Amino acid sequence: MKKIGTIFNFFILFFSLFLNAQHNKPNIIIIMTDDMGYADVGFNGCKDIPTPNIDRIANEGIRFDEGYVSFPVCGPSRAGFLTGRYQDRFGFTTNPSIDPNNPIAGLPIEEETMAQVLKKANYNTAIIGKWHMGTNAVFHPLERGFDYFYGFLSGGHHYFPEKLTLNNLSEVKKKWQWYSTKIIENRAPVEIKEYLTDAFSNAAVNFIDKQVKDDQQFMLYLAYNAPHTPLQASEKYLSRFPNIKDKKRKTYAAMVSAVDDGVGRVLAALKEQGLDEDTIIVFLSDNGGARNNASDNGPLRGLKGDLFEGGVRVPFAIRWKGVIPEGNSYKNPVSSLDIMATIVAQTNVKINPERPLDGVDLIPFLTGKNNGAPHDYLFWRKREQNAMAIRHGNYKLVANKKQDQETPKLFDLSIDVSESKNLKSEKLKIHKDLQKEWNNWNKELKERVFPALGEDNWWSKN
Ligand code: CA
Repeated sequence: MKKIGTIFNFFILFFSLFLNAQHNKPNIIIIMTDDMGYADVGFNGCKDIPTPNIDRIANEGIRFDEGYVSFPVCGPSRAGFLTGRYQDRFGFTTNPSIDPNNPIAGLPIEEETMAQVLKKANYNTAIIGKWHMGTNAVFHPLERGFDYFYGFLSGGHHYFPEKLTLNNLSEVKKKWQWYSTKIIENRAPVEIKEYLTDAFSNAAVNFIDKQVKDDQQFMLYLAYNAPHTPLQASEKYLSRFPNIKDKKRKTYAAMVSAVDDGVGRVLAALKEQGLDEDTIIVFLSDNGGARNNASDNGPLRGLKGDLFEGGVRVPFAIRWKGVIPEGNSYKNPVSSLDIMATIVAQTNVKINPERPLDGVDLIPFLTGKNNGAPHDYLFWRKREQNAMAIRHGNYKLVANKKQDQETPKLFDLSIDVSESKNLKSEKLKIHKDLQKEWNNWNKELKERVFPALGEDNWWSKN
């Protein structure tokens, strides 16, 4: 009997090892662009800028037709994405001050970032590109769960190496001069020789190769600042667009093309290392196309900064070979907040129960295991402008600016993606119900906890 028990135990042990091998935790790569328009990728119908590599993520995975971010500008959108929580829950209501001496202008340290969560599952984590979650030492990426940082701390940057003349933010003497700081590797400024987007792509490929060499599970947050202004592109990429006459659009196209090359190099590195099936790769923009960068939001109303679709609906796709089906589109609304919840579910990491996630694990919805919609409601708030929006089914209630606050407009996005026909008088009950839902959600939120960008002039003291 004892012998049979031992054999049985061996069998159990063998079987559990086999199961573990079958369910290896995936590597995670999130590629985020900056101010890219909804219609500026091939998988959303872009004609004048080929994006074959970005499209591969969608074609070999799933494209989200209605993929949203939680805010229509950079900082709050990234704070939501990095925590998986509506950023107004912790007072990140707008872009924070860039003042490096300010220890509250950033992502509150009580909040857990995606990188901190993944550290608990022994991931090696990197951010390459734009941080924008605070410039003070307490907010440094290496203090917020990342093992490797290669990029810049503020919200935007020059692209040509010769423009990066300041050693650090303490040398900034006027507004926007933070676009000229040197790139930082971990904590030290470094000289770069390449066009910035290429430098980030190089760093990304190097990071992936090193993880493979070290046999290390990894998460890479590749946060390109392209195609955010300033519109700057190298000849290598500009020369691809002889047929685009508009100079701004041509430069924008070149900047997107550089990102696409980088995505291609990341995908090639994964394939070369045999990691295609062991890696979740997500592509999205941090908000919709902006007024100043010649982007294209297609039929969507509004731009970066707006709570209309053009501000918050973004190019968004996910690939996980062997797990989610290839080449489909997913129709129900999803949120950038879902990325954190999806990752947490795959890695079985415990999150702080006092800071519950607002997103959901998308994998059951993408594999067809769950045919329902991931979200009953999606919410947006722009506290500084008293603007609000809520999405429920096909309906969206939106007050895009202060003047609209008294009379939010109701749209049916299934027949009116351009948000042109206000249905308030026809659908008074839905209007009222959505307003009530939003009011309840709003009660859970905080006021802004830090000085906003443009509210101070710290640089004048330098
Ligand atoms: Ca942005």
